[in-house]
Amino acid sequence: MKRQDAAPVVAALRDYVRYLQRLGVTELPLPQSRGAVRSVAPVPAATRLQQLEESVRHCDRCRLHQGRTQVVFGTGNAEADLVFVGEAPGREEDVQGEPFVGAAGQLLTRIIEAIGLRREQVYILNVVKCRPPNNRDPRPDEVAACRPILQAQLECLRPRVICALGTFAAQTLLQTEERISRLRGRFHKLGEMHVMPTYHPAYLLRNPQDKRAVWQDMQAVRRLLEGHSANASS
Ligand code: URA
Repeated sequence: MKRQDAAPVVAALRDYVRYLQRLGVTELPLPQSRGAVRSVAPVPAATRLQQLEESVRHCDRCRLHQGRTQVVFGTGNAEADLVFVGEAPGREEDVQGEPFVGAAGQLLTRIIEAIGLRREQVYILNVVKCRPPNNRDPRPDEVAACRPILQAQLECLRPRVICALGTFAAQTLLQTEERISRLRGRFHKLGEMHVMPTYHPAYLLRNPQDKRAVWQDMQAVRRLLEGHSANASS
């Protein structure tokens, strides 16, 4: 505020104080926190995730909303150090509203348990939140439409480690065209987060010979979560 603009305000205040003096007022209380910066309690990740979920419940940013039963947002512990990212909901997930509840989901649960965790201790979500018709691959414009939701979720969760399940999740998160067989087996940085790409559980159901590779990837994840450095070999 310029000096000349402040003059009438100061004059009005002076008049008001004189008026109070005439009434016999000799003291004015000052606010306790005068000059102090008010601290604002941080909003918990679970609350922010809930608000985000609510805001996308009726999402119609892409054609997938036409065939879905519901948006499959994600589930688990909002404070988790480890987040699993899959591709898109299948039939079971679309009906139940939860990611990875079908056959691939049962295998994912066993993979999580293999590193000494329970499903409720991690967070599970998909790149695309609505079921593509006949379980076809999500299209680039559908992924692009859903990307802001994925980014906002990761912003809320800020896990130490993301396990990218399959080509689709790995390529989307790491913005690469590289194949999963070349990406898996080592950590990639995504901001402060470490991304471990590994084979998708649905692929493992068809190719059980690759379970050993996933086992190795998950042991590396376990070691990192236990405090060992990324890409240390034991
Ligand atoms: N496959 C995925 O990628 N996500 C699911 O939720 C289920 C199967």
